[in-house]
Amino acid sequence: MSKATIVLFRNDLRLEDNPALCAAIARDAPVIPVFIWSPEEDGPWPPGGASQWWLHHSLKSLCQDLESIGLKLIILRHESSLAAIEKLIERSGADSIFWNRRYEPLLIEVDKKNKIALKDRGLEVKSFPGNLIFEPWTIATAGGTAYKVYTPFWRACREAAEEAVKPPLKRPSQARAFASDLKGLSIEELDLLPDPRIDWAAGMRAFWKPGEAGGKTRLKTFLTKAISEYQTERDRPDHDGVSYLSPHLHFGEISPRLIWQEVQDAVRHTTSDKKKKNAEVFLKEVVWREFAHHILYHFPDTVEQPLRENFRDFPWSPKDRELFKSWKKGKTGYPIIDAGMRQLWTTGWMHNRVRMIVASFLTKDLLISWNDGAEWFWDTLVDADLASNTFGWQWTAGCGADAAPFFRIFNPVLQGKKFDPSGDYVRKWVPELKNAPDKWIHEPWNVSPEELAACGIELGKTYPHPVVDHGQARKKALAIFSEIKQG
Ligand SMILES: Cc1cc2nc3c(=O)[nH]c(=O)nc-3n(C[C@H](O)[C@H](O)[C@H](O)COP(=O)(O)OP(=O)(O)OC[C@H]3O[C@@H](n4cnc5c(N)ncnc54)[C@H](O)[C@@H]3O)c2cc1C
Repeated sequence: MSKATIVLFRNDLRLEDNPALCAAIARDAPVIPVFIWSPEEDGPWPPGGASQWWLHHSLKSLCQDLESIGLKLIILRHESSLAAIEKLIERSGADSIFWNRRYEPLLIEVDKKNKIALKDRGLEVKSFPGNLIFEPWTIATAGGTAYKVYTPFWRACREAAEEAVKPPLKRPSQARAFASDLKGLSIEELDLLPDPRIDWAAGMRAFWKPGEAGGKTRLKTFLTKAISEYQTERDRPDHDGVSYLSPHLHFGEISPRLIWQEVQDAVRHTTSDKKKKNAEVFLKEVVWREFAHHILYHFPDTVEQPLRENFRDFPWSPKDRELFKSWKKGKTGYPIIDAGMRQLWTTGWMHNRVRMIVASFLTKDLLISWNDGAEWFWDTLVDADLASNTFGWQWTAGCGADAAPFFRIFNPVLQGKKFDPSGDYVRKWVPELKNAPDKWIHEPWNVSPEELAACGIELGKTYPHPVVDHGQARKKALAIFSEIKQG
């Protein structure tokens, strides 16, 4: 007779469409759900502050969800997940262990090593695909190599989808619990929350509901409304045109396969071609996440090094502490940049269009390396994700896969005018400019001190002067770029 099955929860903090959990329950043996906090195994990329805040709340939600099907989450803390699992096996006598696969290079190594060691102990060890629709090694060019350009990658995924995307697994309604009490830690003992004396998480609490139910609500809201106009609205940071699913996807509170399926269902019977087209545009965005994982898996060095080799010796400026600080704090004097950086600090999230603008500003106007920007995002984003963050930064800096060319330097004023035409996004996040009229809210330095004063603004006092002149910064960046070897 089977003994107990351990199910590891990692970046798959959900019950629905969870292949490892469903397989364990189907085994008709007691199930021991386990979460091991082992940030050391992430090497230089342990979860940052905002991610830890999210994780705390997501674990709370997972505990409740598991209780509703009769299971208790065991929480462990160890710098080696293998050591923690081995101890648990000794205490429980479990004879099998299941998990859903992870795709970050270091974590693949950890899981491979653990698999071998646990099999050597005689355990049944099984891993499942649960966190991507298309695992990185399943999509390849005709020559069998990795894709570096998005459009053919997307086409290959779209073609493979009919065969590859199976219906999501149903949420289990009950499971057999392990009979004796296996002591673990409380979530509080993991100490994931910020020091209560500096409560920087208030804005995140107000905006997010971590956990599977929160993710499903976001998807439902998006499918009811925003999906119909996604193609145009997804570029408007002043509107509610996107899904806000990224942190839920990162923590695996919702599976990408479920999203794929529900988007298809939402448009299956519609007669509106426009809605169908918008749904397709959305799926194409979801698959950018798959592409980011594809690139990271095949080119693991990209976490530190640019994919395009000619950028390896790019002469980034020595990091000017004051300039970097002005960017991080949202005090550059460029309203759209400052709005984005403050949205990030307050909510742990930033609109994609604005992520591109602030990343372009850091790497091209300030000539500060994309690695420094990626580090700041890593600490402050609730959706911080090694694959997507690395990809997004390299894409914007011009040194990654299918990247925007380096000479495409976003003009923060024109971008602001185009994507936040009435300045509402800026007014929301930069209240010093709340009385500025639409006409010059994206370039307050271009009006007279009297006009500014009439709106309660004094440059250099209530709101900063621009930290660099964009026109000059652009020229300098292009001159440096023209000197690096093309390739
Ligand atoms: C410099 C930079 C850094 C980024 N860092 C991250 C990160 O750490 N984590 C992260 O999840 N995304 C990152 N992105 C991608 C993108 O900005 C976010 O995924 C998106 O803004 C999340 O909002 P949403 O869920 O409402 O997106 P929606 O527009 O509703 O898209 C749905 C989903 O598609 C995926 N997606 C959409 N666009 C992209 C993209 N460009 N790259 C990869 N996946 C995408 C996401 O999983 C997203 O949740 C970064 C982009 C840039 C330019």
